[in-house]
Amino acid sequence: MTERLCLVHYHEIGLKGKNRSTFENQLVTNLHRALRDFEVRNIQRISGYVVVESEDRQASEAMAAAIRCVPGVARVSLAYKCGLDEQEFIAAAIRAMGEAGDFRSFKVHARRSSTTYERHTLEMNQLVGSALCEAFPEKKVDVHNPDVTVVVHVVQGSTYVYAASAPGVGGLPVGTAGKVVTLLSSGFDSPVATWMVGRRGAICVPVHFSGRPQTSDTSEWLCDDIVEALAPSGVVGRLYVCPFGDKQREISLAVPQSLRIIMYRRLMFQVAERVAALEGAKALVTGESLGQVASQTLENIWAVDECVQIPVLRPLIGSDKQEIIHRAEQIGTYDISCQTAPDCCTLFMPRRPETHARLDQVHEAWESFDHEAMLEDLIANIEYKDYSQCPSYHAPGGRLRAHHNELGPSPEKSAPEE
Ligand code: ATP
Ligand code: MG
Repeated sequence: MTERLCLVHYHEIGLKGKNRSTFENQLVTNLHRALRDFEVRNIQRISGYVVVESEDRQASEAMAAAIRCVPGVARVSLAYKCGLDEQEFIAAAIRAMGEAGDFRSFKVHARRSSTTYERHTLEMNQLVGSALCEAFPEKKVDVHNPDVTVVVHVVQGSTYVYAASAPGVGGLPVGTAGKVVTLLSSGFDSPVATWMVGRRGAICVPVHFSGRPQTSDTSEWLCDDIVEALAPSGVVGRLYVCPFGDKQREISLAVPQSLRIIMYRRLMFQVAERVAALEGAKALVTGESLGQVASQTLENIWAVDECVQIPVLRPLIGSDKQEIIHRAEQIGTYDISCQTAPDCCTLFMPRRPETHARLDQVHEAWESFDHEAMLEDLIANIEYKDYSQCPSYHAPGGRLRAHHNELGPSPEKSAPEE
């Protein structure tokens, strides 16, 4: 039986000049990790593709679907691999077109990456095209705007033939753009923001602030589900959980109601900045979009950003909620985010939050409680859980607490060596 495999196309990497091999190697590494539940025989680079072969030589649609989620993958085609024999690749073309579903028009697109192959591509187009017309008399040839393109590509002594091809998530392989700390709630926005920077090649280390012990730990479980939902893309290495409820309580007692949120957020950003230093991450990421809620005005962004040195990226700043929701559905976090859980966002909320904070008032409120001691205490009690889907993630040294319940490994076993 003719072998069927996945051809992975990655045009964006093609643009990267001398970095190309680094990017390709990272993509191959990431694909190995993403496909570890499949029986993979080999993953290798061949002339502008990455070729994934399965152990039984019959790559499945499920395998192609798993590959499509991996950042850096522009398209995936389920292809037949033949020799240079014409009858063999014509038969494969007929089979590939027969599997292409419901459509009316087609064209053949022949390519040669081996100069030793003597037939011209025009000749190949005619040869395969006329065989397909004979096999499928009801289908029309349309060279300008076909429903289906049957590709016949001669590469290094083999011919790859495919008609089924679907877009991947695009972007760049995770591990080629450094590391970021993302502020992750269980809402709709921050999982999407995390996925977006991950898709651009960044290793993501989310930090979640829960309302524990003032609330239950439900939001922590939801964040765990979110990270699991993002697992197929391999963007997350570790999740930090910071029990924040007691500090919110203290802050709410100390500062004017309208400035509470800004104070919570300043402290959250400083904790995240510390985590970034520990992790060697170069930026923070939030899911804010301009004007979406009271705290997301330019004045308030200013009032929070000024308390950290590290750059804060906001990939959703110009997105509408509908666009964010649509993306959440695509990446599989929507249903999780629909479940509401009390976290630090719902705890001790003011009735009328400040929307246009004045810096002098912000500074006065900030100095009215011992934020430095709070920061030290939060860092000392931060917890983590590791995820194995991101091969480029390297955990920092130092003794940290594993997550408090069965979500995480036990502290004795999991604490990294000092
Ligand atoms: P989201 O849908 O991401 O929860 P939101 O619309 O609820 O966002 P805010 O509550 O103002 O908006 O939060 C803005 C951003 O601050 C979030 O996108 C996230 O990056 C960060 N953030 C908010 N709450 C938390 C939390 N409990 N833990 C970690 N980060 C948080
Ligand atoms: Mg929220």
